Amino acid sequence: VAWSLDGKIALVTGASSGIGSHFSRVLARHGAAVVLAARRVDKLNDVVNSIIREGGKAFAVEMDVSSSESVDAAFAIIANQVGVVDILINNAGVSGDAVQLSDVSLDDWDFVMNTNLRGAWIVAKEASRRLVDAGKSGSIVNISSIYGLREGVFKLPYNISKAGVAQLTKTMAAEFSKSKRAIRVNALCPGFFDTELNSEFVNSDYGKKYISKTPAGRLGKLKELDGPLLLLVSEAGSFLNGVLLPVDGGHVIQ
Ligand code: NDP
Repeated sequence: VAWSLDGKIALVTGASSGIGSHFSRVLARHGAAVVLAARRVDKLNDVVNSIIREGGKAFAVEMDVSSSESVDAAFAIIANQVGVVDILINNAGVSGDAVQLSDVSLDDWDFVMNTNLRGAWIVAKEASRRLVDAGKSGSIVNISSIYGLREGVFKLPYNISKAGVAQLTKTMAAEFSKSKRAIRVNALCPGFFDTELNSEFVNSDYGKKYISKTPAGRLGKLKELDGPLLLLVSEAGSFLNGVLLPVDGGHVIQ
């Protein structure tokens, strides 16, 4: 029972592919009604339809997390048509250019920060504000990365954005605890998984060699994120707050 999400409403951003679409299916299988958000609505609808075919509850909403107007509009639709979001999976993200420090452009910095960090913040802010207004408890899971916790090379804006997401997690958790709000905020920090975001890297000769040198020696499988996710969102993890949980098969060697 502690793992059940029956009666909960979950919002997953970046649900049109990769980790987000996978998590949407997992949450629906555990009983949540899932709102899937992203820019590509056609892709969202494919995932929604497959969840419904499996007997789950799902709903698609267009949301560009880099636009506060788009986030506000999406939350208004969710409030009208579904209800107050109990569980937020703050997952939408972009990788940006893989270049050396001297070649990072202002445009790439802004693009990555506006999506990964500012986007995560405004979505978490809106979701938690609505939970507080409704007097409800909730759980927010931010998707950071091992590169939010450790040094990394060639993706400065990405790494900094994910470190920002880690700090967003700790600060929100601390503030909500201090103000006695029943909103837990934790982060998953994945290692390497084969999704659109990094498929070029993980399938390149360089990427394969790099991953073979990690302690696990292989990519993670999406299903290996399920247990950590369910722990953070369900009653099973009711005393976890402000946790930054690496899911990488062990410390990744640079
Ligand atoms: P994908 O590229 O498959 O998914 C990224 C998702 O984010 C897509 O659904 C995309 O949807 C959405 N997205 C991008 N920009 C926006 C935006 N402005 N507004 C709304 N949605 C947006 O990659 P992953 O599944 O791998 O990435 C998911 C998260 O996991 C990211 O935050 C990533 O940094 C993180 N992560 C991934 C790792 C991996 O190895 N794959 C490792 C560590 C962290 P759309 O284009 O339709 O808007």
